[in-house]
Amino acid sequence: MNTNSTFADLKLIEPLLKSVQRSGYVHPTPIQKQVIPHLLEGRDLLGIAQTGTGKTAAFSLPLLQTLVENPKRLVPKHVRVLVLTPTRELAIQVHESFQTYGASLRVKLALAFGGVSQVPQVQSLSAGADVLVATPGRLLDLLSQGYVKLDAVDAFVLDEADRMLDMGFIHDIRKILALLPKKRHNLLFSASMAPETDRLVNAILVNPVKVAVTPPSSTAELIQQSVMFVDKAQKRELLAHLFADKALKRVIIFTRTKHGANKVAEFLAQAGVASKAIHGNKSQSARQNALSDFKAGRLRALIATDIAARGIDVDEITHVINYELPNEPETYVHRIGRTARAGTSGVAISFCEAEEIAYLRLIEKVIKKSVPVVLDQPFHSDGAQNSKMRPPVQQQNRGARGNSRQGGSQQRQGGSQPRQGGSQPRQGGSQPRQGGSQQRQGGSQSRPGGSGSQQRSGVRG
Ligand code: AMP
Repeated sequence: MNTNSTFADLKLIEPLLKSVQRSGYVHPTPIQKQVIPHLLEGRDLLGIAQTGTGKTAAFSLPLLQTLVENPKRLVPKHVRVLVLTPTRELAIQVHESFQTYGASLRVKLALAFGGVSQVPQVQSLSAGADVLVATPGRLLDLLSQGYVKLDAVDAFVLDEADRMLDMGFIHDIRKILALLPKKRHNLLFSASMAPETDRLVNAILVNPVKVAVTPPSSTAELIQQSVMFVDKAQKRELLAHLFADKALKRVIIFTRTKHGANKVAEFLAQAGVASKAIHGNKSQSARQNALSDFKAGRLRALIATDIAARGIDVDEITHVINYELPNEPETYVHRIGRTARAGTSGVAISFCEAEEIAYLRLIEKVIKKSVPVVLDQPFHSDGAQNSKMRPPVQQQNRGARGNSRQGGSQQRQGGSQPRQGGSQPRQGGSQPRQGGSQQRQGGSQSRPGGSGSQQRSGVRG
């Protein structure tokens, strides 16, 4: 946050200055400061920024200003600004931002995402809209039925482009691009720049201004990170132990799978911690309810898979807990970025069992520092800390990429389990009967009964 500049310096009109004031913003964030003047001049933009940097206001404020400075009569079914987001949650939040910032302006907003009835969405588009925030799938559905037209789009925003690609939306995006007018204002935001994202940038942007805030693989400085080594079987107890601390007010707990999220939610409920799980198997209304309960402080914890958590914008998350470490270091960076948003501080605690140590090392390599270890906790496991287990990382990554197209970190993460087979070749012969169940058992290895230590020592040896 730059303390020397104000929103007024950015040449925003009075009603927008009032709305940022109402939102409680005092100074523009770095991306807002760097982006808003260029966008008001109509320059194309490539913004390398994660959620939490204030990027939504960075594009919605100048786009709203451009709309009101160039008033046009609405044309039925036509939209002037199109914002594409990868997830429904993010679409809802971006739409909310436009509502908040444009509260005193005469702009008509529309929102379209899948998993719910299209009827209200069709109605809100029938007379035309100034801004449409949409996810690609539902937008294509509406387009194919003739309920919306894109040939009057003046400005196009592709938000979280890297996530779009991860989730397999490239073909949908190309179809949508083909329907947009050639001459338009283009904005693309991405948390990271992979070659595929680069191709998209070249296909969409014309002579863009490039602004990068928080490099993709750096962890926010304000986040206090730590790791707790713990045996798998004791993760639950450790979690309950942490929740005895009242400082854990608004906590996101990450698991790798939907099943894992449900299990943690059940356990926390038993332990008397108000919490809900949020993942792709939950209905849209269940997800929205969980989110609003969480936002309103009725829940202390939200247990989420990576896909479900994307785009969740909840202020003042006090803690992020990685109940399971992700196998992709960038996912770690995304996860912990849920706390310490827009200049506040936050805590990120990662549980690390013996099998996850290789993930931890990868994360530390990417964030270029080691994560401090908390030894002073009742479930500390030397075994986990000193584990030499080495999941075949290359195989992991290949699996991750292959699966990510199909749209699920759950699948990706699921792909992480066979590693146990991979790292234990010599056991293959002795356990062929267990072949199918071995993966399932991956989750229960450390349970009492000896198989955990057996397997662990087997790997080390
Ligand atoms: P975003 O990166 O767009 O997801 O925004 C992250 C959070 O920062 C949102 O909760 C915004 O309300 C908040 N925010 C955006 N701009 C500012 C600002 N200039 N000052 C303080 N908070 C902000």
